[in-house]
Amino acid sequence: MISVAIDGPAGAGKSTIARAVAQKLGYLYVDTGALYRAIGLYARRQGADPAQGEQVCPLLPQIQLSLRYVDGVQHVTLNGEDVSEDIRLPEMSSAASQVSAIPQVRDFLFDLQQNLAQEHNVVMDGRDIGTVVLPQAQVKIYLTATPQERARRRHLELLGKGIDQSYDQVLQDVLQRDYNDSHRAVAPLKQAQDAVCIDTTGLDFEQSLQTVYQHILSRQAQV
Ligand code: C5P
Repeated sequence: MISVAIDGPAGAGKSTIARAVAQKLGYLYVDTGALYRAIGLYARRQGADPAQGEQVCPLLPQIQLSLRYVDGVQHVTLNGEDVSEDIRLPEMSSAASQVSAIPQVRDFLFDLQQNLAQEHNVVMDGRDIGTVVLPQAQVKIYLTATPQERARRRHLELLGKGIDQSYDQVLQDVLQRDYNDSHRAVAPLKQAQDAVCIDTTGLDFEQSLQTVYQHILSRQAQV
């Protein structure tokens, strides 16, 4: 099986590019952030503070998560309910970031992610895919852009969904998540030693996609 790991900070365009490149390659696209979001959602629904491990951990045995694909689009099922839309609400970004710092949450999701890569050729995006989840991935990409550019894109995306958050608020969220993701004790966001860094600041979607796709093809030709 071939695994392509795409890691990087929030808003770098990972999911859009990973999804498109997976389609071009005919691989399964796995958005691992959605799994952390689903756990954040469950914690919030149960009235738990997503930042408190002692409140979140007892909930984990109650959680059944699975991924399904409808017309190539990933859907997340939480205890039988499709929560794909609910997990995209802005407040779920910080809940996901908070639960993702809890080691037991990362362990809980580890097998699910690894099993997918054992059964399928995958393009998997997240924060620790190349470093922790799939250290053997044949292709590793660290996709990034400046915080201002990432906030600009996220702001437009939210507006497109009718969610009205100011640019400054979005930028604050981006910076806060960058800080949380890169400073947590377990599996912090960092570039794998053998990953190539692709900075998409100043590149449009098509240019970013082509850069990533060409890199994957050239790596595949070498392995
Ligand atoms: O990618 P997305 O923004 O949906 O991820 C939500 C949060 O989940 C991230 O801010 C990060 O804290 C966490 N995450 C993670 N490891 C992953 C994927 C996401 O810690 N592999």
